[in-house]
Amino acid sequence: MQKDIDSKLNAKNIKPTAMRQLVLQVLTKQSTAISLPELENKFEKADKATLYRTLKTFEKNKLIHSIDDGTGSIKYALCKDSCECHPDDLHVHFLCTHCNQTYCLNDISVPNINLPSSFSLESVNMVVKGICSVCSK
Ligand SMILES: [Zn+2]
Ligand SMILES: [Zn+2]
Repeated sequence: MQKDIDSKLNAKNIKPTAMRQLVLQVLTKQSTAISLPELENKFEKADKATLYRTLKTFEKNKLIHSIDDGTGSIKYALCKDSCECHPDDLHVHFLCTHCNQTYCLNDISVPNINLPSSFSLESVNMVVKGICSVCSK
């Protein structure tokens, strides 16, 4: 387990530190995206600035991506191993209106957007809303 964590960090050129290992462990266990306040709740001692910096490092090195699902808090989720965070890699996100959890729908890529010529695409933020499988049970 610890080995997996370290090799994931190394694969993205992130030097393993105790804090980074712990944060990645939490993210790996998540089935949904997590916001900074939610992450903070899982750590009793770590301060918010350190957690924020850790997330930013992960994001910069494409280990995680951030999601603006319109709820007002940015959420973070692990990228697939092969992810380069290009527009081509982007997938649809699902916001459950019942539990407020955001899911990565990794198998559903965002549709091709044909922009007018002279407009260039940088990113697409596609959030689909509805009731998730946990809440619809
Ligand atoms: Zn739900
Ligand atoms: Zn995602």
